[in-house]
This record gives sequence, structure tokens and C-alpha cells, in this order.
Amino acid sequence: MAKNSSILFEDAIIVTMDPRRRVIEGGSILVEGGRIGEIRGPAERGTEKVERRISARGMAVIPGLIDTHLHLAQSLLRGCADDLSLVEWLRQRVWPIQGCFTEEDGRVSAELSMLEMMRSGTTSFVGVDVVSRYGFDGIAKSVTKAGMRGALAKCIMDSPGYGRKGTIMPAGLVEEKEACIREAKSMVKKWNGDRGGLVKTWLAPRSLGGCSRELYEEVADLAVEQETRVTMHLAEVKEDVKYAKQNFGMTPFQFIEKVGLAGPGSLFAHMVWLTDSDVRRVAKTRANVAHCPSSNLKLASGIPKVPELLEAGANVGLGCDGAPCNNSYDMIREMKIAAVIQKGRLLDPLIMPATSVLEMATVRGAKAMGMESDIGSIEVGKKADLVFIDLKKPHLTPFRSIVSNVVYSAMGSDVDTVMVDGRLLLRHGKALTLDEERIEGEAQRRQDDLISRSGVKA
Ligand SMILES: [Zn+2]
Repeated sequence: MAKNSSILFEDAIIVTMDPRRRVIEGGSILVEGGRIGEIRGPAERGTEKVERRISARGMAVIPGLIDTHLHLAQSLLRGCADDLSLVEWLRQRVWPIQGCFTEEDGRVSAELSMLEMMRSGTTSFVGVDVVSRYGFDGIAKSVTKAGMRGALAKCIMDSPGYGRKGTIMPAGLVEEKEACIREAKSMVKKWNGDRGGLVKTWLAPRSLGGCSRELYEEVADLAVEQETRVTMHLAEVKEDVKYAKQNFGMTPFQFIEKVGLAGPGSLFAHMVWLTDSDVRRVAKTRANVAHCPSSNLKLASGIPKVPELLEAGANVGLGCDGAPCNNSYDMIREMKIAAVIQKGRLLDPLIMPATSVLEMATVRGAKAMGMESDIGSIEVGKKADLVFIDLKKPHLTPFRSIVSNVVYSAMGSDVDTVMVDGRLLLRHGKALTLDEERIEGEAQRRQDDLISRSGVKA
């Protein structure tokens, strides 16, 4: 279906996530020219001249989910790095395998990640740490072809270290500073010019130990000069705090504020190890946080102070991180985990209600991407990024609060139809823009090859 045609979805339960958080039962959504043209209640009628009508009876429609932190290159590593702590996980498995990637591996891994995302209701994402050997431009092209909305963050580094002494990256992942910056600028020029484009280039300085102080300062200036956004891993594990204390005499967030990187155009993943004062500074600087609960639990990194960050006024989005640490890219599952871990951590069942979690996966995620005027909620004038969940399932029946069923009972596989920018990407659970059979076959073959090339015993 062409982007400029009109389509009317009828008889849906619309979870708008608008400022009033309205839920409209038996409502219709008119999509025109890639945007939401009208939202109607059950008794309202409007323009009846539409090119296509789709019955959404028995479905809940939610805003397209926004994954604020994930590694596109890691879906090919699914099942290769279980039951290890972060630093060993990186050194023994993830880095050696990723250091053997070809550009074709990079593209297929991105396609597999997007296939899983669209089948489970994600429409926009921040893909972090894209290194040159994965083929930045090829990945960007595959995002446009798939029809998803992706911010691709170019990895920037000038040191092969991470967090502690002796944590050295394999040669295949090491990049020269000048080359990183040159590629970042060229990709910004190529992909950020078109205001309505689906792909954006961001900057991704590596975690502490991967960049010199001067380089972090340079990235802060570069982001202003190139009018783009910055994302990085920060305060993920205890070692990060130790490293920052030893090398800079301050906490990781204090350091990042000092080098000029903490601001509304920045998105920091994990932020598990924050002091109470850091929490206040995150809110004050209006920096954004990407919370990745499954990854933090599986790698035993810790549980971040998400309710405290929200209470302080900070913006927090949600992320699936990667296949070796999650091991899936299913935001619906991630929402439930985000809710239940905080209740357990603080022994308070009221602390993280379903609506707060859905906000993190939608409106807050949109803000973290700097796109809150276009995506994140179902409102007239916004981009038509819509996800239809089939409620005709035993685990979704009956319902009192649709938000409760979506967050606590639904699974990614309940997603029936997905639209991005007014274009249907998924219909009745079948991908329309990606060739599932080819991608899944290729992924298995490529994983086998990567394991043997890297010499990793997985
Ligand atoms: Zn990550």
C-alpha cells in the first residue's frame, strides 16, 4: 500500500497514550499520507471516501513501541554468550565474534533484529555502537527497505579498553578516531538531511575506557555542530564506577556531565549505578535514560533506580539491548519485566504501574529519540505508527483494563498488524517488507560460520 493512500481502521480499542491517556472502545483511526488524519469514537462518522477499510474488531491498537537501546549486530549471537558477567561476556564471546563480522553479517543481523521487532510491535529503535565493519550504510539501507524508524548510532572510540585494566578489544573491532569521526560526519550528511526520513545517524562514543576525555569533549562539540544526538552505555556495572573514581575522581555521570555530554540530546543506557545525587543531576540536565531490565538481570549488573529517576523528573525509555544478553527483542515482554522487578526491588506493588511502563515504551521513548511531536502516541497529526494486538486469545481474556492486559498478559507474538509511517509492515503476523524464510535460513548459516571463524567455544 502506498504511503499517500488513505486507510480506515474500524472498531478497535484505541489506547491513545495522548496527554489524557484516553482509551476509546469501538473507535476508528483514519490514516492519510502517512499520518493520523482522524480518530473517532464509536458513534462518530466522518469522511467515508477511503481507499481501504480494515476491521480491527477484537484488537487493541497501541502506539508503535519504541526500543531506545539495542544492538542490531547481536541477533546473530543469540545463544552464544549465556550465563557470564558483563566483562567476561564481552571479552570471551561477544567481542571476538563481532570482531569477525563482514558487512553481509551486519546486514543480515540487522534484518533479523528488525523482523523480530516488527513481529512483536516495535516500530522505532535506537541501534547503538554500529562499527564500520558491520557496514553502516548497508544497515541504513536495510532499515529503509524494512520500513522501520531507526536511529543508527556510529561507534566512536580512540582506545581499545573498557572499564578495567586488561580489558582489551580484539583487533577486528578497533577503529581509529579520525576514521570514526569521518564516517559519522558522512553518514549524518547522507541520512539526516531528509526531515521525514526513517533513518537518522547519531553518535555513540564507547563506554568509559573506550574514549579519552578529549574525545568525549570532541563528541559533545560534534553533536552540536552536526545537529545530531548522542547515545552511550553508562554506569552499567560496578566496575564502571570504580573506573571513573580511579581515573577521574568522580562518578560516571559526574564525569559525563563534566565533559559536556549530559543534556536533552543525550541518551544513556543502563545507568544502574547512580548515586542519589546523580539521579537528581540526570533530571536537572534533562538527559534521557534507556532502561534495559532483562539485560541488567541476566548479566547480573544490578537493578537501576527507575522509579527514583521518574520521581525526580527524569525521562526514561525502555530497551531490549541485545540477543546475547536478553535474549530477545520483544518490547512487550520487556514491559512486564520492567514493572515487576521494581515492585520486587522496593517491596512495593504500587511503585511501577502498567501505565507508567507503557509510557516508557511509547511517549517517553519518543522523547528520548527527540521525536515526541511525531511519534509515541495516537493523536491526530502524528505519524501513523500503529500496532494492533489480537485480543482473541485465552491469556488476553477477559479484560477490565486494556493497559493491564497489554503490559502484564500480552506477548510479542500477539501482534497481528503493524504500520509505520502509514505503510503496513506486518499483516496477520506476516512480515510484508522482509523475507522471513530467507533471513532465518541465512542467520543460522552465518552464525555457524562466525563461530568457526572466531574460534569461540560457544
Ligand atoms: Zn548495550
